[in-house]
Amino acid sequence: MKVAINGAGVAGPALAYWLHRNGHEPTLIERAPSFRTGGYVIDFWGVGYTIAERMGILPELLKAGYRFRELRLLDDRGRKVGGFPTDVFWRLAGGRFTSLPRGDLAATIYRTIEDRVETIFGNSVSGIEEMDECVRVSLEHGPARDFDLLVGADGLHSAVRRLVFGTEDRFEKRLGYRVATFEVRGYRPRDELVYVAHALPGRQIARIALRDDRTMFLFIFRAELMPGSEPSGPTETRAVLRSVFGGTGWESERILAAMEDVEDIYFDRVSQIKMERWSSGRVILIGDAACAVSLLAGEGTGLAMTEAYALAEELERAKCDHRAAFESYEQRLRPFVEGKQKAAERLAASFVPRTSLGIWARNQATRLMGLPWIADWMIGRSVSVRDDFELPEYAE
Ligand SMILES: Cc1cc2nc3c(=O)[nH]c(=O)nc-3n(C[C@H](O)[C@H](O)[C@H](O)COP(=O)(O)OP(=O)(O)OC[C@H]3O[C@@H](n4cnc5c(N)ncnc54)[C@H](O)[C@@H]3O)c2cc1C
Repeated sequence: MKVAINGAGVAGPALAYWLHRNGHEPTLIERAPSFRTGGYVIDFWGVGYTIAERMGILPELLKAGYRFRELRLLDDRGRKVGGFPTDVFWRLAGGRFTSLPRGDLAATIYRTIEDRVETIFGNSVSGIEEMDECVRVSLEHGPARDFDLLVGADGLHSAVRRLVFGTEDRFEKRLGYRVATFEVRGYRPRDELVYVAHALPGRQIARIALRDDRTMFLFIFRAELMPGSEPSGPTETRAVLRSVFGGTGWESERILAAMEDVEDIYFDRVSQIKMERWSSGRVILIGDAACAVSLLAGEGTGLAMTEAYALAEELERAKCDHRAAFESYEQRLRPFVEGKQKAAERLAASFVPRTSLGIWARNQATRLMGLPWIADWMIGRSVSVRDDFELPEYAE
């Protein structure tokens, strides 16, 4: 089959890998002018970890990864007010856990197919016409092309979803936060393998030291602190972050000053995608486009890779009968993904507390997590570090 995949993030290249391995001809279409690297640091574990193992990329991921030792919460003068040793995640995942930049994960997946799969950069699907025997895909640049299937793997703000299923507001569940991240070189101080964070009511900044003298910053804040419209472009984004985080103590002024020279700032709503159906005719969505769980679930990349694997293999099992494959794929994945979405929704209320009292209570709770059995119990309750999902074993 010829399969067009819109979006070369995590889900798209993973699907291309499995389709190509099964003898099909995937084509990736990516809006960015070249493969996107860098970006925020993700935690990676669970079924996605097993898929990475099956793809043979685990050694590379572990090499690119970090094993953070501690979450350290500081007050506005930099004094420690909470935190815990983060080996709890590693322990609960049975050692199958790493943290790495999202771009490193995506690039490692992409390298497995780079020379064997056509990728069209700087382009996007702009129109879709379903025919009896194929789907005609119009592109923003260049002539339309016919494929057997079209997969939307184009993330939270999917164009394929909009073209086939309708506008984003019908499917987006906002969790009440905005997130921004960026990276700089040479920032001081550094705390190796420590996730350092400072919170004020409704907002939190974290600093994470990376290799090669890089530091990544993660800003999360309650949506009500930004009443205006979404910023467009780095200048407006910087203005929003200055207005929300300016004068908030700790290193906020130094971090905001470091941001002034950064053009590549990720900024978005923290949202999930919930749809009644993930496919229509010859078109199907995977990854964040279909069912984003949000950063609060902390497993979106692993789920995207699992979905890619399961979709490719269900197509094999159904001997390329896409209707049967899409049906069984969705039945298999939906309960698992929806469980992850519910867990993230529960966490949303307390993720960044609204009041000083809430922050104080959270800090005290994290102090208790210095005791391993309490940490295991608390983390085990809020984050499903062990996946309750049996990965289908398809025929080799
Ligand atoms: C701050 C933050 C922290 C996170 N932390 C974690 C974590 O700890 N662990 C974890 O597993 N997950 C985490 N996630 C979630 C994770 O990043 C996503 O779930 C995952 O990247 C989804 O993969 P995807 O391939 O579906 O989408 P994406 O990775 O978003 O890739 C989509 C691709 O489609 C491209 N695209 C977009 N629009 C178009 C278009 N119109 N045409 C063509 N191409 C297009 C994009 O350029 C991109 O390359 C986090 C997310 C954020 C924002």
